Amino acid sequence: MCEDSILRPKIVAGNWKMNGDSAFISSYCKVLESELKKEPAIKLEQVKVFLLPPSIMLADLRNQLQAVRGLKIQLGAQNSAAYLAGAYTGEVSVSMLEDYACHVCLVGHSERRALFSETDEVVVEKIRQLLTTGIKPVLCLGETLEQREAGNAEQTVRTQLQVVLDAFDEQALQALIIAYEPGWAIGTGKTATPQQAQDMHAYIRSVVSGKSVELAETMPILYGGSVNAENARELFAQSDIDGALVGGASLQAESFLSICRQCEESIS
Ligand code: PEP
Repeated sequence: MCEDSILRPKIVAGNWKMNGDSAFISSYCKVLESELKKEPAIKLEQVKVFLLPPSIMLADLRNQLQAVRGLKIQLGAQNSAAYLAGAYTGEVSVSMLEDYACHVCLVGHSERRALFSETDEVVVEKIRQLLTTGIKPVLCLGETLEQREAGNAEQTVRTQLQVVLDAFDEQALQALIIAYEPGWAIGTGKTATPQQAQDMHAYIRSVVSGKSVELAETMPILYGGSVNAENARELFAQSDIDGALVGGASLQAESFLSICRQCEESIS
């Protein structure tokens, strides 16, 4: 393990995307409860774990997670408004998310960039709003398959990152978590190899060090893209991978907890 990784928290976040309902939450939490009783016990003391349901389910999930004794899973959101409050039909503000106990919020997820025109400028405004709260922005970066094949993966990621680094000062950026998610690996079953992921994470850290070396050493960088219980361990073994943003596999409580356990084990 790289010594620097000790400076950084380990994080696993489960992005449910537009999946789930109240019955799903009940059965998910029941499985979590029975999994927690299995030996060896999962402690989740050194790994921060978040579940990101659709925002309409935040209150229900919160109540049901609280009912599971000994469970240290916190809530997060998949999206937030770029505006403070007011006439923005259909939007959810950062203060609402904070009120509903969200601790992290995705920004610039590739699906939002591709399907909902979330530009780098919108990303910056969303982060600006989030930084007025205690919610940590999880900035998603990643290239498409075409960009990778054209040799433009690093340039694409650098551009997405630099606009955020330029918009905020070092102190504000201390709240930021980065998730590197190559678009070609999201929901496709194709994972970047541990080496491909490590190389891009190290590159991202080098770009951040252009802003501040200390920031680069302390900023958590998660990997996302078809992470599952079978491939997580090798990814977590990479020195610049500080955890995972998990989509599909987070919909199964056993798989999700197994990924969390593997993240915890990567620390020792
Ligand atoms: C995601 O939605 O952020 C993601 C990584 O999805 P999946 O794990 O399904 O590829």
